[in-house]
Amino acid sequence: MRELVVLGTASQVPTRTRNHNGYLLRWDGEGLLLDPGEGTQRQMTHAGVAASQVTRICLTHVHGDHCFGLPGVLARMALDGVEHPVELHYPASGEEVVRALVAVAHAALDLRLRPHGEGGPVAPGLEVAPLAHRVETYGYRLVEPDGRTLLPGRLAAAGITGPAVGRLVREGRLGAVGLEDVSVPRPGQRFAFVMDTAECDGAAALADGADLLVAESTFADADADLADAYRHLTAGQAGALARAAGAGTLVLTHFSSRYPDVAPLAAQAAARAGAARVVAAADLDRVAFPPRRRT
Ligand SMILES: [Zn+2]
Repeated sequence: MRELVVLGTASQVPTRTRNHNGYLLRWDGEGLLLDPGEGTQRQMTHAGVAASQVTRICLTHVHGDHCFGLPGVLARMALDGVEHPVELHYPASGEEVVRALVAVAHAALDLRLRPHGEGGPVAPGLEVAPLAHRVETYGYRLVEPDGRTLLPGRLAAAGITGPAVGRLVREGRLGAVGLEDVSVPRPGQRFAFVMDTAECDGAAALADGADLLVAESTFADADADLADAYRHLTAGQAGALARAAGAGTLVLTHFSSRYPDVAPLAAQAAARAGAARVVAAADLDRVAFPPRRRT
């Protein structure tokens, strides 16, 4: 099961219809909680997401709309008796804020602090890259390696069954039969999370080839001067990012409270997004991971 559960979509000031930021990426057995802003615990209840589903928490930076939900979520996980370890990733310069937030939550949780101070891998398949915001900020990217899908008909025709199948996959060849004879390429999927930032190389690197790209879209194109001043993206810039990256689906979020209607922002992004499908996220939306690309 791979899907994005949108818990909140507001930047800075929550509104009557938008909670602060927050997202849960369900990725096979893992649950990545991204940027839990204030109110995330209750939004999880509204979304039907159990705290026990969270295995990893990723903070892009320590501005409140991206992390003030942390104590509530951690306390809830402790209350629910979560026993599995939970990794918490964040920029190293946010250590003091993170420790303060963690300190007020219940201690009965196997929480492992994983600060990072530069771009690169932070866990298997999970990478960070620096963004360009007013404080140290990193976006995230989850990459599944390319693999191969076995074709049962061809396996049967080649007389390969049972444990021999595993051996063929491990060794790439079994007698006269090569793995490529009984399988087709299965491109790995990619998820990218680009939060508070101006346009920058890090954002482009994270978004590259993403099947699902979540990008902040704080301002409308007409407010580009504000985006510039506060180091955020406009909707059009988010669209351009998706296009340059060849992204499959672009999920816009982190909207300024000045826009009661974000349909114009979606249109501005779509105008520059090329072939990417553009979704303006609403709280509690669920975005299914797009089908695998064909090679
Ligand atoms: Zn923000």
